[in-house]
Amino acid sequence: MSLVDKIKVVIRDIPDFPKPGILFKDITPIFYHQDLCSEITQGFIERMPQKPDAIIGIESRGFLFGFLTANALNVPFVLIRKAGKLPYKTIGFEYALEYGTSKIEIHEDALKPNWNVMIHDDLLATGGTAEASAQLVKKLGAQVMGFNFVVGLDFLNGKDKLNLHSNNIQCLVHY
Ligand code: AMP
Repeated sequence: MSLVDKIKVVIRDIPDFPKPGILFKDITPIFYHQDLCSEITQGFIERMPQKPDAIIGIESRGFLFGFLTANALNVPFVLIRKAGKLPYKTIGFEYALEYGTSKIEIHEDALKPNWNVMIHDDLLATGGTAEASAQLVKKLGAQVMGFNFVVGLDFLNGKDKLNLHSNNIQCLVHY
């Protein structure tokens, strides 16, 4: 079975979560399959144009394969979290949601200027969260060399927002 098929078999669809009309793609069953976790990590590594200086994981499901991939590559892993969660000095970026706004933060010393970093999350929907993360990376003087997601919801056209930062946008499976 291909990697795509193996992932699609275990991802679970939850209708109307967290609100009516959303079909939630639940990746948690993947973590019952250790070989598949290794294959997914390897899949991300194979698709990277070069070794990054760090991998950024977006709270919270972006921490899972983001950290595994960073550790396998032997590069630092950096957390982007919702406002108020990181303990040290932070810089933040506020971005628009469907209704209202949200704010994410990164430690002010998390990246070295001119580092080339990959941004990682479990799923690409509208691209708003990943785009805001790219803005934080740039605020710290580093460069975005690409984006990795386990799942891409292509009908929401999230790539259009991310292309401004990098054309290297990898989703292991597409819906
Ligand atoms: P967006 O900023 O619209 O690209 O949303 C991406 C974030 O929302 C990711 O961190 C996802 O975990 C989460 N998300 C959005 N839509 C879904 C969905 N249908 N299933 C699972 N997670 C989702």
